[in-house]
Amino acid sequence: MSGLIPQSFIDDLLARTDIVDLIHGFVPLKKAGQNYQALCPFHDEKSPSFSVNQDRQFYHCFGCGASGNAISFMMNYNRMDFVTVIEDLAARAGIAVPRTGVSPELLKNKESQTELYELMELVINFYRMQLADHQRSQPAIEYLKKRGIDEALATKFEIGYAPDSWDSLIRNLGRSDPARDRLYKAGLIIRRDDGKYYDRFRQRIMYPIRDHRGRAIGFGGRIIDSGTPKYLNSPETPIFHKGRELYGLYQARQSSRNPERLYVVEGYMDVLALAQFGVNNCVATLGTAATREHLERIFRTTSEIVFCFDGDEAGKKAAWRALEIALPLLRDGREVYFMFLPEGQDPDDFIRAEGATAFTDSRQLRALSAVLLEHLTQDFNPTIREHKARLAHKASEFLKNIPQGNLKQILSEQIATLTDQEASQLEALTKLSGPSSIPRPHSTENAREERKLISQAIKLLLQQPQLALLLGEAEIMEARGSAGGEFLHTLITLIRKNPAITCARILENWRGTRYEKRLTQLSLSGQSRYAADDAPLTSSDFLQTEFLGLIDRLLDEKRKNRLVELNTIESTTKLTNDQREYLKNLNPNARRINPN
Ligand SMILES: [Zn+2]
Repeated sequence: MSGLIPQSFIDDLLARTDIVDLIHGFVPLKKAGQNYQALCPFHDEKSPSFSVNQDRQFYHCFGCGASGNAISFMMNYNRMDFVTVIEDLAARAGIAVPRTGVSPELLKNKESQTELYELMELVINFYRMQLADHQRSQPAIEYLKKRGIDEALATKFEIGYAPDSWDSLIRNLGRSDPARDRLYKAGLIIRRDDGKYYDRFRQRIMYPIRDHRGRAIGFGGRIIDSGTPKYLNSPETPIFHKGRELYGLYQARQSSRNPERLYVVEGYMDVLALAQFGVNNCVATLGTAATREHLERIFRTTSEIVFCFDGDEAGKKAAWRALEIALPLLRDGREVYFMFLPEGQDPDDFIRAEGATAFTDSRQLRALSAVLLEHLTQDFNPTIREHKARLAHKASEFLKNIPQGNLKQILSEQIATLTDQEASQLEALTKLSGPSSIPRPHSTENAREERKLISQAIKLLLQQPQLALLLGEAEIMEARGSAGGEFLHTLITLIRKNPAITCARILENWRGTRYEKRLTQLSLSGQSRYAADDAPLTSSDFLQTEFLGLIDRLLDEKRKNRLVELNTIESTTKLTNDQREYLKNLNPNARRINPN
């Protein structure tokens, strides 16, 4: 049955699990005084700074700062999601995972989703049979041959053929009203104004899209003759969300559970062409630019992403967009590289001409830090004094988006050297003067929105406190500044200090204070809205996505609100230099700031 895992069970499970036994199964531990020690599995080192404390059931690395309990170890070391870890630990302890109840409405949604997944399997089979048997599938087969896709690969990726007909799918899988209804919900047929239906995909090669767990969720279809559009994807449906899914991720995970790196390429033909040459660790977004959700999903499978782009101007622009999205996600242990192909070549052309060894050669990879530095320095001449200051300032805008860690430190040092500044000066540039010195303007629409987002974030944290561990230091600091923001910051800090903390213990912490009542309300309302999810294994994924999305929106609101505040101050009083700079960055074109 679907539903959330009760917190009391998680507490009980942690009590039954011994962290020393558990970690010792993955990383051999040696007793050292009160603690156990090992070479840290989360960073490279020569002498052990990874320490496990049996009394506190906690690990900590003095080298890289990695720390947590048994659950966080399993999540980070084995790259499992939260629910999978709970199930794994429960299996080790020999107990079953209970789930809280599910409302009839949610159960019905889940049932209808299950029906859609099952239907998609039938449709995949149908299109595959058409490719094999249809009397007019020859041009499709010719096309695949021409692209070098052999039978084994076509089988692995379940490639099919949608015949040149308005109703072949409807005639085969949509004979009853409920059956047609399901095809419509799955986005496979289109309703005309007169209420009749026709097949969405016609005369196309069909590429089934599976989510990371292998469930069939949609299709990409490529036209065989000269019709348009050349590529057509399933529309958004209850089970298909373009901004979240990656073509090829499931197959890549089938090839290797923990690939060393994943390449992000542009389309499904690239994924197939590379797989044809044995490069199986490739994924493609579905006709959209990479989103934060995409990258979070990839980072759950590997610690290294390589973006593969055409070397032309459009490719460089796309690379820059990807870089900006990746920056806030680059905690220690995660890496992003770029690979620029010769102009006019796609991965298919390249691997055909140069071979797989050339494609996977790490020497052609460009580190994210190098791409960032190149971009920053292209408008500035670091031998000119004024340019140095402007470069330092521009760099600080990017640095503040990077979580604390090695990348941030190395980049800060490099930029400091380039601009003749002390790294600490640069650090100061990335911080702004605290909000306490600023008179607070009256409540605005934005401030209300901000409060709402904060409430929702707190609600999710009460439901699953470990969500706080997903945030970078920079994000946490940026959430401060209003009463609600300060509270959220305190809550997140509390959780990060006590990664195994439960909702009950959080409430205990504020018992007898003015926050108690509101917190209790939030903890109860959280249960009803999030009491279940589309499937047991995704409830944790779902909460993570929801939570990170909320934090993103919250930080956006805060930036907007800060602009309103500073405008208010500007009209009545003088801004500090920091505030003036900040205002300029927020709104570089629309404002002229009087130097006095
Ligand atoms: Zn470490």
